[in-house]
Amino acid sequence: MKIQDFGVKNEPVLEYLKGSKERKELEAALQEVASKTEEVPIVIGDKELTSNDVRYQVMPHNHKKKIAKFYYANKDQVNQAIQTACEAQKKWDRVPIPERLRIWEKAASLMAGPWRARLNAATMLGQAKTTIQAEIDSAAELIDFFRLNCYFLKEATKYQPISENPKVTKNSMRYRGFDGFVAAIAPFNFTAIGGNLAYTPALMGNAVLWKPSDTAVLSNWYIFEICREAGVPPGVVNFIPADGPVFGDNITASPHLAGINFTGSVPTFQRLWKQVGQNIDRYVNFPRLIGECGGKNYHFVHPTADVTSVVTGSIRSAFEFCGQKCSALSRMYVPESLWPKVKEGLIEEADKLKIGDPTEYDSFTSAVIDDKAFKRISGYIDHAKNSSNLSIIRGGKYDDSVGYFIQPTIVQSTDPCDKIMVEEIFGPVLAVYVYKDKDVEDVLKLIGESTAFALTGAIFAQDEAFLKRAVEDLKMTAGNFYVNDKSTGSVVGQQPFGGARMSGTNDKAGGPHYCLRWGNPQAIKETF
Ligand code: GLU
Repeated sequence: MKIQDFGVKNEPVLEYLKGSKERKELEAALQEVASKTEEVPIVIGDKELTSNDVRYQVMPHNHKKKIAKFYYANKDQVNQAIQTACEAQKKWDRVPIPERLRIWEKAASLMAGPWRARLNAATMLGQAKTTIQAEIDSAAELIDFFRLNCYFLKEATKYQPISENPKVTKNSMRYRGFDGFVAAIAPFNFTAIGGNLAYTPALMGNAVLWKPSDTAVLSNWYIFEICREAGVPPGVVNFIPADGPVFGDNITASPHLAGINFTGSVPTFQRLWKQVGQNIDRYVNFPRLIGECGGKNYHFVHPTADVTSVVTGSIRSAFEFCGQKCSALSRMYVPESLWPKVKEGLIEEADKLKIGDPTEYDSFTSAVIDDKAFKRISGYIDHAKNSSNLSIIRGGKYDDSVGYFIQPTIVQSTDPCDKIMVEEIFGPVLAVYVYKDKDVEDVLKLIGESTAFALTGAIFAQDEAFLKRAVEDLKMTAGNFYVNDKSTGSVVGQQPFGGARMSGTNDKAGGPHYCLRWGNPQAIKETF
């Protein structure tokens, strides 16, 4: 199915050409956002609150600069938000779907128009995305989530069950929200994901507690403000920045927990899942748990692959946004016969990348998100420096004196199961294993067996017969699979996104079924 068949189109990605109106607006917004430390409240119902626990969001590329001041909600505030959400849900669920759709479509227009520059500026300065990276995320993808989920919901409600003799009995189906509240726990790496996690359950009639990531508070707050302006009533989405365990412990302890919509790490999702298990006896609902948890994404290069597409695709996938996409390339398998050319190409391209201020138009990428990420990623680079199995073929430098900068780093590993080849790094480190051409079958097996992740993967090959078979052999290794293209860049409505195995529950954000996962359908039989 093509996007055109959906009756809606993806939001175009603007280019911000010199002298263009959008470039002027973006520059003004960047100045405005950079010139202050914005106060971001906790929002419960119609109340904007603070707490004693003050936090700051800093610019990753210049960490002395604070761009947002926010407050961690305490235990009592989390519980107050639960109560408020549960009350709001009862009213909200009665708002007819067409009215909800109107609000969501208005929010999308505000994002596409008057708020676009500010949202992008918050994403660029707060999450260190370059102009194009921000435009793809906090403009195009966010707008697409809002518009396409409306479209998918409209399409879903068109289906009505069979009524054999409608004059005697009529069968129908409708979607309600869940009796309780949904917790949305958002990541830093996509502003759009935060918006989707919180507002898709709300579109379906649920009330939500939204915990933004500490390092994406400002952009997420702007989404909240937009949706409030568009008409989302108080209490339907509550904005609750909080310490992870304080939030997690209190939502999972509430009898009214109806679901968790999560993007983040495997251990955090597992912890939440265990807490839900421990509390299962006290719940009103069986909470619906939806999670996207990262990956160890691969490019498999066959001896018949086109070297140019391997090189350009791998550089972009591994290093755009410093490898901090869940879909980013992190391990690569290259045949010995192609390695000299692939290696030369990777080095040549890596040397061209400008790593710097995200607001400079020629920056390819900028800093990693925070100190914790900087330490984790540089730890893997140190491991590469100190291990006899590994050699750094490009990059390897890091410096956090001004911002959290890490050079795009390419590491060759002679051990396909070294930790650099199997653990999620979530940073600009690409591990390469060079295999003997005759071992191609063993490598195919190894891809699935060496890690428990299955988010994205790509195969590069020109041999049609091999491709056909390998696509089948690798089918369990990736929820999003690419043939002769890089492993990143999924577009809402075009490549519904999500992974299986330890990468998540594979509910496919940006796909037609995602909103339905947050619906609570009711079948009604009326007899006349
Ligand atoms: N949709 C993004 C892509 O494929 C990845 C989303 C994520 O990082 O979770 O590039």
